Amino acid sequence: MAHGTASSMTRAERFTRSLVAMIEAPTPTFSFEFFPPKDDAAAEQLWEAIRRLEKVSPSFVSITYGAGGSTRDRTVRLTERVLQETSLTPMAHLTCVGHSVTELRQVVGTYAAAGVRNILALRGDPQGGLGQPWVAHPQGLNHADELVRIVKGFGDFTVGVAAFPDGHPESRTLEDDVATLIRKEQQGAEFAITQMVFDVDNYLRLRDELARRGSRLPVIPGLMPITNARQVVRMAELAGQPMPRAVTDRLERHGDDAEAVREEGLAIATESARHLLDEGAPGIHFITMNRSSATLEVFGNL
Ligand code: FAD
Repeated sequence: MAHGTASSMTRAERFTRSLVAMIEAPTPTFSFEFFPPKDDAAAEQLWEAIRRLEKVSPSFVSITYGAGGSTRDRTVRLTERVLQETSLTPMAHLTCVGHSVTELRQVVGTYAAAGVRNILALRGDPQGGLGQPWVAHPQGLNHADELVRIVKGFGDFTVGVAAFPDGHPESRTLEDDVATLIRKEQQGAEFAITQMVFDVDNYLRLRDELARRGSRLPVIPGLMPITNARQVVRMAELAGQPMPRAVTDRLERHGDDAEAVREEGLAIATESARHLLDEGAPGIHFITMNRSSATLEVFGNL
């Protein structure tokens, strides 16, 4: 399938070609999300995945930002390495958790100096865990819209933000989530990526409500090809996002048959991706879990 491919671009072109142009183009973007590896074995597995996924020329790849100091340094190093050693366009996630504004500016400055031009500006979850109140760093920020403003202030960055079609756990209504996205857009956010989409109707409801309120923010759905039911249920729980029965029923039908669960998971992801693209979603953002096979299978089905 044709899409916003990056393969033929030189590094200089990758610096200047905006993600926004790719996202706004009529052909969908495909992007892949990674997390920084904990040790050498995990790094080896990640780089094998990166090399395999590089071959399908994704529009961009993103690298998540953890809670501790060492994992954060790994995000910065990995993002720089992807830019220097691959043909991929990286986007770095950045959160406000435990950071003063000065520290946030330092991280953004490091990216600017390295030539990284895309940042996903996030608040992050409360340090006490979901359900605990958010406590900002005394010299830090309370919400992602403030981080968007700071990163845009550097001048050089395309900035994305998070969206929650199933509702952010701290939001009371869809209206709260829509108002939050519009605030981020007003601060300069140019696109949003959603949490894992399990219910396409919820994605469409959020997107349509944004459009009804005059927003032009492209909202890219996040999709995780399920290969291990327990893992994805746990991830959804951690994110405060219960999985719909329609999905769990389909997985549970296969009991302990791991191969059948994997096949069902990939079928669900393929159906969701097709439905989303048919409905005009600007692209699909795959949560890869640092592996390539499942993502490549779903990508190949589209
Ligand atoms: P915010 O936009 O600040 O929203 C948090 C809550 O506050 C929402 O309920 C919102 O409606 C409300 N709100 C927002 N602005 C205001 C305001 N001005 N006034 C009053 N209320 C407001 N976490 C990580 O730690 N690392 C990652 O790499 C990471 N990557 C992610 C990628 C994606 C695509 C997504 C969807 C989430 C990711 N997260 C990551 C999780 C995210 O940080 C958490 O879900 C966090 O709780 C919310 O972040 P946010 O940027 O949406 O925050």
